[in-house]
Amino acid sequence: MKTVSKILDSKVCLITGASRGIGKAIAERFAQEGAIVYANAREEGSLDTWATSCAKEHNTVVIPLYFDVTDANLAKQAIIKIKKEQQRIDILVNNAGLVSYELLAMTNVEKLREMFEVNVIAMIQLMQLAARIMTRQKNGSIINISSIVGVQGVKGQLSYSATKGAVNALTKSAAKELASDNIRVNAIAPGMVETERFKKVFDEKFSHRIEDIAMGRLAKPEEIANACVFLGSDLSTYISGQILGVDGSTNF
Ligand code: NDP
Repeated sequence: MKTVSKILDSKVCLITGASRGIGKAIAERFAQEGAIVYANAREEGSLDTWATSCAKEHNTVVIPLYFDVTDANLAKQAIIKIKKEQQRIDILVNNAGLVSYELLAMTNVEKLREMFEVNVIAMIQLMQLAARIMTRQKNGSIINISSIVGVQGVKGQLSYSATKGAVNALTKSAAKELASDNIRVNAIAPGMVETERFKKVFDEKFSHRIEDIAMGRLAKPEEIANACVFLGSDLSTYISGQILGVDGSTNF
């Protein structure tokens, strides 16, 4: 029987924030493309049933990894576990993120710190850990999930847009640093994505913003996942330091 080659065949990946939404869609899409998927979530046991059925359906390996990305020690243990089990790590998708909605006047410093801890500092720590392994293997792709608001800014999301602006800048800097070791670093900047969480927020608060999207609809999580497949794969071996908008041509 002819075997169809899969784009991420046997690539070892870690996807953070895979409990739901965009992260889960990325994990599923990667498994579908033959990747060996390590899917991170915070709640112990929460991905066990899904991982078993996803692995079976796509005839690959899907392993849940339970840790909070802000716990540097646990994040390190997770990377060590992947290295020990697979001897390598090919793709890191930094997807875990906190979203908040507030004007400058309402911005609370404690909340702001928490946002930076998850969206920026934890991301940098995971990049550091993964890059050590990727440097030795002289190959790797790091994909950071940013947001259109980190590029364009938006009224009412000051803290969130600040963290995503930082993600864009750190992505470009890391790309320059790691290029000589054949490690590519890119960000994806989604527009508004129809995850369970965001669909509710959108319907309650932002339905008028549909007018800002030239394509006239929200993105499906799978459309963000498809861009991740491309940037993780060998179809993008000369692409690094880019912030790829996946936003249906949105202008706030
Ligand atoms: P969700 O809120 O649905 O999911 C966020 C994920 O991040 C969850 O899996 C959550 O885990 C995880 N997470 C949060 N904090 C931590 C932590 N400390 N450690 C580990 N995991 C954590 O969000 P989306 O799927 O919508 O968003 C995913 C990414 O895409 C985010 O980076 C977001 O900023 C970005 N994005 C989303 C857009 C949208 O319209 N939906 C648009 C643009 C960008 P848990 O279940 O434990 O809370």
